[in-house]
Amino acid sequence: MRGMTPERETRYRDGLRSAASAGRAILEAGGSAMDAAIAAVVDMENGGTFNAGLGSCLTSAGTVEMDAAVMRGSDRGIGAVASITSVANPVELSRAVMDRTPHCMLAADGALAFAREQGFALRENFPPPSRLAEWEGKRARLKARAAGKTLEQGLAELGGVLGDQEDEVRHDPVGDDHDTVGAVAFDSAGGVAAAVSTGGIWLKMPGRVGDSPLPGAGFWAVDAAGASVATGTGESLMRVMICKHVIDRIESHGDPERACQEAVELLEKHFGPNQGGVIAVGPRGGLGWAINTNGMGRSMWRGGMKDAAVAVWPDEDWDRAR
Ligand code: ASP
Repeated sequence: MRGMTPERETRYRDGLRSAASAGRAILEAGGSAMDAAIAAVVDMENGGTFNAGLGSCLTSAGTVEMDAAVMRGSDRGIGAVASITSVANPVELSRAVMDRTPHCMLAADGALAFAREQGFALRENFPPPSRLAEWEGKRARLKARAAGKTLEQGLAELGGVLGDQEDEVRHDPVGDDHDTVGAVAFDSAGGVAAAVSTGGIWLKMPGRVGDSPLPGAGFWAVDAAGASVATGTGESLMRVMICKHVIDRIESHGDPERACQEAVELLEKHFGPNQGGVIAVGPRGGLGWAINTNGMGRSMWRGGMKDAAVAVWPDEDWDRAR
């Protein structure tokens, strides 16, 4: 991702600040952590810059299959959706699963039927032709590299996702490959919430579901403990239940920053470097984040700040005063 063009980096940073500002507007108006986290994620689903909603990456069949989830810390309310094709805002659909069904997760056709019944907006001509052209290119490059094998075998052996650079195969969670988006929030009543949304990974097998809609893996939120969301290779993140681990660690010592670092150390111990990252908010609103990739876009706002702050690189401090 160090190779992001300046134009893309600007768009990327603007998208992050816009998302945090959407969450801020809710909190400033006295809204809940749940509403704020969802507002931030909806903003990123609609922007097209990130791997969620409009910007979702495509399966090996050239289709969109999105996953999303929300969790409310006050009552462990969970709503999740998996393998969603055309719903404009999967994170809002996941909230409806939490609020309007007796279930925690709906997938594929049943989830789409529920979305239609509830009047959710669908995207037309989705994925757009520009995205399909990108897909053609990635597919052709993967095929060339995995000569004689199926696309899925090739993807598995190469261990990840095709990057945008012609000669590079990589899993770059926040580079030109875009990435899962997520938000955690802490409100004036002390409530926490998590929201997450993704297109998954480029050229995944149709039907593949990642960590994002899985409780404990892609997200976790419990009042008086904290909230966390993850990004990166779902097949690794889910095998260490990374977000549950973050919250367990916060419960044990109270420090969200240290908890995120410990969770990423666990991830790296089992699956090596370049796997992903987490963000978290603690029981008193403290923040944490950690990655073992070469960058992760992040943005934050807290009461009293004039503007949301943004950072992307591992060693970069927030660009606005805390
Ligand atoms: N975690 C997502 C997934 O595996 C993708 C990503 O964050 O890059 O579905």
